[in-house]
Amino acid sequence: MPIKLVTTAAELRSHSARLLMQKQGASQGLVPTMGALHEGHAQLARTAVEQNDVVVASIFVNPLQFGDAVDLDRYPRTLDADLALLEAEGVDLAFAPSVDEVYPGGEPLVRVTAGPLGEKWEGASRPGHFDGALTVVAKLLHYGIPGAGLPPSGAFASSGVAGLPAYRAYFGQKDAQQLALVRRMVADLNFPVDIVGVPTVRSADGLALSSRNRFLSDEQREAALVLSRALRLLEDRANAHEPLDLGSAQDLVASQPLVDLDYFEVVDPGTLEPLAENCRETPFRGEGLAIIAAKVGPVRLIDNVPLSS
Ligand code: AMP
Repeated sequence: MPIKLVTTAAELRSHSARLLMQKQGASQGLVPTMGALHEGHAQLARTAVEQNDVVVASIFVNPLQFGDAVDLDRYPRTLDADLALLEAEGVDLAFAPSVDEVYPGGEPLVRVTAGPLGEKWEGASRPGHFDGALTVVAKLLHYGIPGAGLPPSGAFASSGVAGLPAYRAYFGQKDAQQLALVRRMVADLNFPVDIVGVPTVRSADGLALSSRNRFLSDEQREAALVLSRALRLLEDRANAHEPLDLGSAQDLVASQPLVDLDYFEVVDPGTLEPLAENCRETPFRGEGLAIIAAKVGPVRLIDNVPLSS
């Protein structure tokens, strides 16, 4: 079925409700994105299509989460290609609202606060980023609630939809801190949605796919491979039940002159607090997340791998 593009919340409600009725659907999935879609986003969409009767992907470059107006302006916008990619994956609806539709009164007075978890790592170099990101994710999760446009009360039973549809939203493990924060927001504020994390998609040489990779020169892209190589080193050591020796992996990154390392740590996957003990001399045991961020030329890159031993 061709994908349907909608730009207002009212259209999204009515079209998704109609689709749920037509398909007699029992579930709806939401895939929030900022567009400039690549195979990583396609994987999110594919997973959502496999698991749900109706799938909505949103495309919205959220001004609230950009500290820097230049970064916001130059964020790539490729709507036609995005729609083609989503359609190929079987997504039913693309929701691409304007800034005015999402923030009709200008910047919202009341926002979601990410708290201390939003102030470390990415939050430390991008103040306010996660408050802005969580605020828009909260709004998108509300826009995407299934059944909001179904006929009221008594008519519900005759809609063909049996009971309240399941509701799932899909986020990439690539943005591990965002995923951890979304999970906390949904738990702490009782959002009626299941959050599904999708593993990071990489190019064949290991670089995690990102909409910003297009701003890397060939030389910078080559240099950037040291991030995934260093993460892989830790993953191999964890799998071999060896000490992680984080220091030597950090040295590997530091030896690449085009890469300006911000942080490289092994943390608890839920709290993102460093797991210092596990990283040095003793064999790694338990669950961890190796996280890395670096500036390469004009681009800030982030990556991570889950560790389990
Ligand atoms: P963005 O459009 O960059 O805000 O990303 C939208 C969603 O796609 C987020 O949940 C990201 O974590 C996810 N995503 C971005 N890159 C990748 C990737 N390489 N692999 C898996 N998911 C990704």
